[in-house]
Amino acid sequence: MSTPDDINLRSEVPDTVTVEHRGEHEWRVTQRFLGDEHDNNHNVTWLRIRNPGPETPIRVEVIWAEFRYMADRGFGYLKHGDAWATVRGETTPTSTVYEFTAPAGDSLFGTFPWYGIEDESRFIETICARSTLYSVRSIGRTGEGRPINCLCIGDESKPSFVVLARMHAAESAGSWAVEGAAEYLLGDEARPLLEQYRFHLFISVNPDGVANGIKLTRMGPVEEYDMVRGGMTSADPTIVALREELFSLQPACLISHHSYLWSVPFLGVFERQVGLDMLDYLVNDDDLGNTGAWLVRFTGAERGFLRWECYSRFDTTVAFTELPWHHRLPDTISGQGVDILKATLAAHQHKLRARRGEMYVR
Ligand SMILES: [Zn+2]
Repeated sequence: MSTPDDINLRSEVPDTVTVEHRGEHEWRVTQRFLGDEHDNNHNVTWLRIRNPGPETPIRVEVIWAEFRYMADRGFGYLKHGDAWATVRGETTPTSTVYEFTAPAGDSLFGTFPWYGIEDESRFIETICARSTLYSVRSIGRTGEGRPINCLCIGDESKPSFVVLARMHAAESAGSWAVEGAAEYLLGDEARPLLEQYRFHLFISVNPDGVANGIKLTRMGPVEEYDMVRGGMTSADPTIVALREELFSLQPACLISHHSYLWSVPFLGVFERQVGLDMLDYLVNDDDLGNTGAWLVRFTGAERGFLRWECYSRFDTTVAFTELPWHHRLPDTISGQGVDILKATLAAHQHKLRARRGEMYVR
């Protein structure tokens, strides 16, 4: 029997999990997606807790879709109002059990922070209201008819600098990284950059995936609906729109943010010197507190991937990341977004200077 005073738990993102009420203040949440088209280590699990009474201890067990790397699955996130907190869970071989206090009123809880379509709208509205330097445009429509929004800032006649988040829509960290970059570009330090580049920032380049809480643009074969693997070949409207946009912009720099389960942030590059310069920047950064260590991969040819095509066709300086949650808070990820933007710029400018035969000066 449920009474109006009972705490209620339900999924905030439709169809991603099954929620069972197991006891008075106890729930079991089972992830529903498993397979090639899903990021099985990064399934969206985001719940709304409605607590009409006073704060109350509750127990939530999350059964993961798959069970590798259980040691990396011990964190949960609670959002109440605008405040974020991490929650330590106890892992079993197949699940993580979280015991925490549900605040009075509404709060949100999950295995990693979720950033939805409405969060993007709110951010775009806020930043455009704050500064007329930003404009917003849509590069096309998704399969489900959503606009693919791009925030633009900087001199229109100058080379393009593109930052992408959510090609894999389930990997929410990228949206906060782009928010961080967008805020940074409004600051005094970034003023000269706006005279040298036009920045094109995509908070959610895969809005259908974000709306449906999945990795791809829609469920189905990865060659058709994975924005990375299907970049050059897919006929999906979202992927076609991004391909045409990148080929038209021929960006000087391209950053693509991703997120994985493991604890150490990852940086991928095609050019060795770019990777070394970025690392030099990242590990010397004054506010190193953001991360402390990076895993770098010097990647070979990635045929069929848009980032590789940009590098090989337009000499684009490319960096792609995995920004793991792993107890980090959204503000930290936003800081990493700024660090990566600055590191990519430093590496790109060094590349141009080196070609002119100039010495590298930090
Ligand atoms: Zn990814």
